[in-house]
Amino acid sequence: MEKRIIYADNAATTRVSESVLNAMLPVFTEQYGNPSSVHTLGREAARLIMRAAEQTADALGASPGEIYFTSGGTESDNWAIRSAAALGERQDKKHIITSMTEHHAVLRCCEGLERQGFEVTYLRPDEFGRVTAEQVSGAIRGDTCLVSVMTANNEVGTIQPIAEIGRLCRERGVIFHTDAVQAAGNIPLDVKELCADMLSVSGHKIHSPKGVGALYIRKGTEILPMILGGSQQRGKRAGTENTAGIVGLGQAMEDITRDIPGRVQRLTAMRDRLIKGLLTIPETRLNGHPTERLCGNVSISVRGVEGESLLLMLETMGICASSGAACASGSLEPSHVLTAMGLPGELARGSLRLSLGDDNSPGEIDCIIAGVTEAVSRIREHSPLWASYCSGNGSTENM
Ligand code: PLP
Repeated sequence: MEKRIIYADNAATTRVSESVLNAMLPVFTEQYGNPSSVHTLGREAARLIMRAAEQTADALGASPGEIYFTSGGTESDNWAIRSAAALGERQDKKHIITSMTEHHAVLRCCEGLERQGFEVTYLRPDEFGRVTAEQVSGAIRGDTCLVSVMTANNEVGTIQPIAEIGRLCRERGVIFHTDAVQAAGNIPLDVKELCADMLSVSGHKIHSPKGVGALYIRKGTEILPMILGGSQQRGKRAGTENTAGIVGLGQAMEDITRDIPGRVQRLTAMRDRLIKGLLTIPETRLNGHPTERLCGNVSISVRGVEGESLLLMLETMGICASSGAACASGSLEPSHVLTAMGLPGELARGSLRLSLGDDNSPGEIDCIIAGVTEAVSRIREHSPLWASYCSGNGSTENM
């Protein structure tokens, strides 16, 4: 008999939906023309890409001409940051502001720029993972060429005050980019309200395939091409377009923005029940903001338990989850996000992220609570960390 899987790792990636798959399938075998070709098949492919740009733009309150398709969130982030930096450098502006809890797609990019002589201010979040517009305001200098702050965090789900930060950047004349990879579909995104100059999204977090994403670039914002070659995408991003992926992304953007309030309500109810159930496990704490958090995100730290052991135990029960960021799994380094929020190493290493999505059902929540509770007690039976804590020799850090 096939083992039943409970997939609670939607922040890592999602299943391609039927609607997205159905939109994509004909592109492989029927609408397969090169969008740059002048014949009918080519023009049909170009039309599909235009339609996907419209769907993506509509979902973000943008115009289709402001949407550029990329290979995913990482490329979108790199493009936005490196272009703003290169353009800043031309005006002797070599200072960038970001936050300590960004995804590595942003952090590694900023670190690379530091090696090239840029100065980067990494804003420290509060204990819930939030930074403020005041912090950004205090960090802006005459030579600041970019502020990049994520809309919502991938590990702890904390939602940042992006509209306030965007407004401030607009007032101060500084380019503002936001990584909205985790936010898309989970909170309403309107680039005008957010005052975003650039905004990144990724297909595989919203039920379209891996390897496709988009960067919104506000009309009038100067941008350098990051991939040189043909004249695709208005000469800004060369290479024959991934038509099927782009069609999938467009469909997913339309699908996930159709009923955000309904989705938020459904997922928040499951999320809050899951949090409540998990916090009945002794010496367990919630990571991230109690209310300003993504509707599907549950992040907890469990004392006396290594996150990796917990994941393996859950795996045997058919529950798919993450410890910290998926990209960091396999590494024993505590998560940079939890560390920046001030969590001691022991608790940061004992973190578990469960991320709910459209495919989860309320019944699965009870199974997850029971599974995690049992896994924690089994691990603690053999955990020297837990034994040491119980005998009073361990860390006395407050949960
Ligand atoms: N930004 C955030 C906040 C993410 O969560 C991720 C993926 O985990 C990325 C960027 C990278 O996106 P992609 O996997 O499409 O390159």
